Amino acid sequence: MNTQNTEKQQEELQVPTSLSVKNAAQVLRMPEDGLPYLRHDRAAELTLDAGSLSTQDGRITDFSHDESAEIRVDASGCAIVPGFVDAHTHLPFVGWRAEEYAQRVGGTSYEELAALGGGIAASARAFAEASDDAVLEQSGSLAHEMLMHGTTAFECKSGYGLSIEAELRALRLAMELDKQVEQHTVSTALLVHAVPPGLDADTWIDQVKAAMPEIRDKTAAQAVDIFVETVAFSNKHLEHLADCASEFGLMLRCHVEQFATHHSVPVAPSVGARSVDHLTFMHADDRAKLADAECAAVLLPGAEFLGEERCPRARELAHAGAICVLGTDLNPGTSPIISIPLIIGLAVRRYSWSIREALLAVSLNAAWTLGLSAQIGSLEVGKQADFLLLDGPVEEIPYRFGRNPVAACFIAGRPVYVRPDAKERFELPATMQ
Ligand SMILES: [Zn+2]
Repeated sequence: MNTQNTEKQQEELQVPTSLSVKNAAQVLRMPEDGLPYLRHDRAAELTLDAGSLSTQDGRITDFSHDESAEIRVDASGCAIVPGFVDAHTHLPFVGWRAEEYAQRVGGTSYEELAALGGGIAASARAFAEASDDAVLEQSGSLAHEMLMHGTTAFECKSGYGLSIEAELRALRLAMELDKQVEQHTVSTALLVHAVPPGLDADTWIDQVKAAMPEIRDKTAAQAVDIFVETVAFSNKHLEHLADCASEFGLMLRCHVEQFATHHSVPVAPSVGARSVDHLTFMHADDRAKLADAECAAVLLPGAEFLGEERCPRARELAHAGAICVLGTDLNPGTSPIISIPLIIGLAVRRYSWSIREALLAVSLNAAWTLGLSAQIGSLEVGKQADFLLLDGPVEEIPYRFGRNPVAACFIAGRPVYVRPDAKERFELPATMQ
């Protein structure tokens, strides 16, 4: 967790010091403590027994009720689950591309739109024209909507800069956003997103390499990212970026196999990638390599659904034991989705996943992808108390598709969002009423 987050936690710890939630119908727990991630062939071992949860100074202390806690919450009929971790978003950005969505629904391809100056280039223009305040205002408001849907930590990516200077600006704005929102954030430098106008891919990679010391020294980026696709970069560029990542101590993430098969999957895990994201067109022969690797398979069913892409072989990936993760891919082009409950609904239906598999993919495994699973991502004594109160059993999340089940959201033991109808469940100290 970066320094800003540590400072943020200390602020949050001032109120309250203790909190206890009692009588939940379900509490989602891992089969054992201390796991960095859980491979999906073990997802059935997650437990959902009835219970309570208590916190002190922002951390989980116990799974029993503490009647002396400063804040007491009645969770009858509710589920307690870890706060959702959205491991793949493109915040901060500004503007929307609704007209492109209408064109794509009408049959225009993403590649055709890109050739007409749409796609990433359109968002890059909007980013260049907007003031810092405008970018932060839209991004902050999206982060608040995410909070109301249970997201307590998320990834930010640059990528709409298309010049080193503008990418540094995006990463600086991500640091600003982190200060302004309740959630914990982790920044990824998606420097290798689209080939900037007037350059070729090799020249851009050289510029990125030269900028790495500045990225390390002036931003909070913890990872670098690349888009490997016919219209973007190649596996050779992926290998070059892997060298940069290891030289500068950053994690490597990659957008791969989204629109066609490029066999980037055997390459990415073999050069130490933390995650491979999208995987719609991953070749079946590459599955075993990923299932054995310490590399997350980040699936983005919202982008697939809105792009009318085919489904990745998610059932087989889970069965093979890959570290499966779900994210919104929140971005103004292919996935303007903020809601993890919606993503869970899509994954359960389209991937034939169980609710346990979907919840694992938005909690511990997503936290591991961001390098945060020692602190958050599961309900364990000693971990930071980031959790949600859902207003019904977890099985209702995918079933009541499109509905938001989040009644309250807690970060570091502090209620940061309480839905109006859930307020009566809370017994607050006089100073907080
Ligand atoms: Zn993406």
